[in-house]
Formats: sequence, C-alpha cells, structure tokens
Amino acid sequence: MSFSHLGLSEKVLAAIEAAGYKTPTPIQDQAIPRVLERRDVLGIAQTGTGKTAAFVLPMLTLLEQGRARARMPRTLILEPTRELAAQVADHFEKYGRNHKLNVALLIGGVSFDDQDAKLIRGVDVLIATPGRLLDHFERGRLLLSGVELLVIDEADRMLDMGFIPDIERIGRLVPFMRQTLFFTATMPPEIQRIADSFLHNPVRVEVARPATTASTIAQFLVATGREAHEKRERLRRLIREADNFKNAIIFCNRKRDVALLHRSLVRHKFNAVALHGDMDQPARMAALEAFRKGEAKLLVASDVAARGLDIPDVSHVFNFDVPSHADDYVHRIGRTGRAGRSGTAITLVAPSERKQVEAIERLIGLTIPWIEAPAGATGPEQAAREASGAQNPRSGRARAGEARRREPRASRRQPREPARDHARARAPREPHAERDGTHLPAFLLRPLPAKV
Ligand code: AMP
Repeated sequence: MSFSHLGLSEKVLAAIEAAGYKTPTPIQDQAIPRVLERRDVLGIAQTGTGKTAAFVLPMLTLLEQGRARARMPRTLILEPTRELAAQVADHFEKYGRNHKLNVALLIGGVSFDDQDAKLIRGVDVLIATPGRLLDHFERGRLLLSGVELLVIDEADRMLDMGFIPDIERIGRLVPFMRQTLFFTATMPPEIQRIADSFLHNPVRVEVARPATTASTIAQFLVATGREAHEKRERLRRLIREADNFKNAIIFCNRKRDVALLHRSLVRHKFNAVALHGDMDQPARMAALEAFRKGEAKLLVASDVAARGLDIPDVSHVFNFDVPSHADDYVHRIGRTGRAGRSGTAITLVAPSERKQVEAIERLIGLTIPWIEAPAGATGPEQAAREASGAQNPRSGRARAGEARRREPRASRRQPREPARDHARARAPREPHAERDGTHLPAFLLRPLPAKV
C-alpha cells in the first residue's frame, strides 16, 4: 500500500517521495485520512511508530488553504521537551519544502526577541513547550484565538513532567471549535480524563510498537556493588567488552548522576556527551548533534531529556540505574533494536534495585537473564538452565503465556542465550588502543570537538 490513497496533496506526496518513504506506517494509514476529514484523533502510539509524520503530513495538506495573520498562529503543537519540539520542526522542514509556510518554535533557552519577530510575521505552525508558550501569551505577544488545529503530543510525558495544569489552561485559550489531535503512549486515568475534556467524538487509533523493534533487542542484567564508583567501573568494563559495539545511550535516573557519570567517562577517555534538563539549549543541541553524527559514541542521558528522541541505529543501551518506573525501561531499551536492526540492552543492578527489576519483568512478561547474577538471586543450576535456554518456573513459557494475556509492550521472545553471548562479548572485535593503562577501542579515543 502506498501513500497515494490517503488524500494527501500533490506537494506533500512529492515531499514523501523525496524523503524515500514508500509505505505508510499503521498509525499514518489510520490517522491521516481522519485528520484530513477534520476529525479529532486520539492516537495511542509510542515514538518509533511514525506518529510525527501521522500529524505533520495531513497538517501540511490542510494548511495549503488560508493564510497566517500576525501574532495569531493557525495551528499549535505542544511538546513536553525542547528536543521533541525541535524534532517536529525538522519534520516540517523536511516535508514542507514545497510549501511556503512559516513555522516557529517557542522553546526555553532561545531568545524571546527572535521568537517574537517570527510571531509578528504570522505563523502557520507554532511548535511550543507549554511553559514558554504561556510566557509569550502573558507578555501579550501572542493570541491563541486563531488556532484551527491543536496537537498535544506525548501527553503521558506531559503528565509525568507536571505540565497538565498548563495544558488545561492552554485548552481554555484556544477556540472551542477547533480540531484536536491527541497522542499518548499510555492511557492512565488522568490522561483519559484530559483526553475526554479536549476531544470531541474522536477517532481512536491505537498501534502497538512494531514487534520487530523489541524482538531484536537482547536484554541482560548485571549485578553490581551498591557504591556508584563500583557501578561506574563495571560500566566501563561492559562498554570495552561489548560485542558489535557502535554507540550507546546510558541512562541514569537523576540528572545529577548524568553529569557525574559523564565527567567520569570523559576522565577515563571515553568519547561521551551528556543530555539532561539542567543544560542550556545550545549545549543540549550540540550534544545531540555530536551523538547523531557519530562524533560521540556515548550519550549519557536522563529519561526526560531522552524521551522520544529519534536517534537511529543505536547498538547498545545501558541502564546505569534500574528505572524507578517500569514503563521507562520499555522506553529506554526501545532506543536500540530499531527498524529491524539488532540491539543490546544491559541493566546494572545494585542490591537495592532488585525489586524494581521484578516490576519490570512483570510488565514485559519476561525474565531477563543475568550476565553476572548477584549472590542468591539465581542459583548456579538455574543460571545454567537459563543459559542453556531451558524453561524454569520464573522464566520461559509460563511467564510468556501470562505476558501474552497481558499484551506486553516489549518482546515476548526469550532473549538470546546469555552465556554464549557473553563469551562472544568478551572476545575483542574492535582494534584496541592502549593508553593510560586501559584498553579502549580506537574510536572511543578520538577527541570530541563538541562542547559537553
Ligand atoms: P516517530 O515515531 O515519529 O518518532 O518516527 C520514527 C522514525 O520513523 C523517524 O525516523 C521517521 O522519519 C521514520 N518514519 C516515519 N514514517 C515512515 C514511513 N512511512 N516509512 C519509513 N520511515 C518512516
């Protein structure tokens, strides 16, 4: 099936062809015709499903009619983070190259005056984080009474970040008779309530994460000591020994730890950048760009900063901390194994984090094998059985069956055989360089120009 039957304009179809997309993803296939019919849409989909293009492409088609007026944006897209907002702006640039539309970004860390100058010229698409949008509104530089179409993206992340009161306020500032597109990865009761208040008779479009994504991720646990320095030491070893290593995102639970770990990795001559909420906007953009271009091989990040970022082809995800919310585990490991490629996700587990691992295993319906089990967690006999792929009461079919009933969000497949995989991981494949008494693959030793 191609894009041609969805009702998109010729200009948009030409841009899709230039981008090289041949087939719409399920959310695009289901949502685009409805958006073009001017229906409200409730999209339950995670990043990686093509949901951004599912709203950008029909919006471009709809915006071909009409003109923008000064300070009165025609459409408004709300995003929880600056990076996501910038990513959506990139989509408009990519697909909107045949259109003469004014797109403005209202995000923190960027000068008010530059943003204001754009608003005066008249904006077809305004992409904003809620706080900065309200700042502009309160300064009287923006009128929301001309908004014909409102997009609320990553609504569940907005909830996690405490933005719901801002969203509700913005909802009262835009016209009642508008079209609303509402996207969320999960549907907790609070999000259902917001969706009910924002949407009028919506079409519900729900897509699962592509099965190929999760089934291509090999997941492992590694027991570590309780001290942070023990974890850092273990992480360095894991990176050095990683099989088929190309690049990695390393997640920490707290932004303070992101900064600490990043500094430590750089001290140990790893080519790393960091991404967390306390960095200023240019530094965040520079870090992300360095990682995207492959100039930096390691990105140390917090959940909030990294959520939803489209970074293709990451070979490894390391969880320096076990995420406190099991849902975040699914998001984190989903950064690898994308687009049918294989990936590896390794979680470091201190003794105090064992309970969180159990919650994750319940959510994903899998027992994640240990590369190095903690004393007493998995007896040698059980570890050997797990290593040989045999079933045991905690893993295997019983759990997988239970997971099937629960509609797991991650792979139902058992991870790759751990013992053999680990043995392979220890055999160095990359050319190694020797410096400061440490063994590092040569690419990790290249100096990094980007500011970190
Ligand atoms: P998203 O879920 O919006 O973050 O998109 C995930 C990735 O899929 C992005 O890199 C998009 O450029 C890409 N993508 C979106 N739609 C398609 C499509 N129809 N075919 C191939 N790739 C796509």
